[in-house]
This record gives sequence, C-alpha cells and structure tokens, in this order.
Amino acid sequence: MDPETETETCDSCGNHAVAVRAIEGEFVRECEVCGNLEGPADLIELLELQREADGLGVSIDSFPLAQFIEGLPGVRIIGDSGGDKRQGTMPFVAFELADHRTWQLENLGQALRLMRAELECEWSLEFTYDFQMAFELHPRHDGKAKHSTEQVLAARRDLTKIWRRLNTYRGLSWWKQE
Ligand SMILES: [Zn+2]
Repeated sequence: MDPETETETCDSCGNHAVAVRAIEGEFVRECEVCGNLEGPADLIELLELQREADGLGVSIDSFPLAQFIEGLPGVRIIGDSGGDKRQGTMPFVAFELADHRTWQLENLGQALRLMRAELECEWSLEFTYDFQMAFELHPRHDGKAKHSTEQVLAARRDLTKIWRRLNTYRGLSWWKQE
C-alpha cells in the first residue's frame, strides 16, 4: 500500500484522510479526522495504548509494555522510560514483586529467551535495590555512558516487539498462570 496514492475511505466517518502506518511490516490505517483504526487487532490495541500514553504525557514507547507487566498478577510497576535520544539514555521498565513470588520473573525470563533472536538489543532482567527490592528490564549496557540515537531507536522497536510477543506468549501452555 503506497500512502502517496492513498484514496481509501474511513469506514467510520467516510472521510478520505486515512493515513497508513507500517509497524513491523504490517499496516494500520488511521483516520486523521475521527481517529478510527483498522488493521490487526493487536496493533490497534498498541496504537490505542500509545494514544493513552500521549494523553497522559508519558512515553508512548514504554507505556504499552509497562501496562502489560503491570497487568501481571503480583507485579507492580515502579517506573518506565522510552529512553532519550538527546541524552543517549536507553529505555527500561522497572517493577517490584508485590506478592514476593518469582513466577512472573520466570514467565518474563522464558519469554526473553524465546524472542532473543528477534530482538535488536540484548535485553536483561536485572535485580536492583534502591530503597526497595526491584527488577529492571533493559538492554544490556555496552559500557558506554551515552548511547547513539540509532541504539535508542532500536531499543524502542524492541519494546514494541516484546509487547507483541508477550501478548501471544501469555496464552501459551508454558506461561505460569497461577
Ligand atoms: Zn474517520
């Protein structure tokens, strides 16, 4: 689909201002008048989460993944960031285990292992202690204090991919439910 020759009509309001966005090789059509979204269900959910993040003034890159992790039983988000291109800081999602059990760490660890080959960065789950016991999901540090814009963008693409894979994985038999 070529956006230049786009003459599609919005199914919701009938307007012709429909923009096509490519995400991971798939397409979502977004009406610029009424905001109606069409495309794969999980990508529509992703864009809706990004809109919500935009409205809240938080990172659209890390918010969907942070919401997913917050939704895991026994887990509470304590911070997240989509990184900063100018400052060269990388994205992260930090959480604590409110129920003091390790099952969600096992789920996330197993998921990261399975999707490792698909990700651009090498992600790790790190134990941190800063007034409280917590865990941080972030790309492994390569020793540099400041990361390049390309590294930050690659990590942001990974955040989307991790979110999509986790949504699939949580329905699979190995994912610990309770
Ligand atoms: Zn519309």
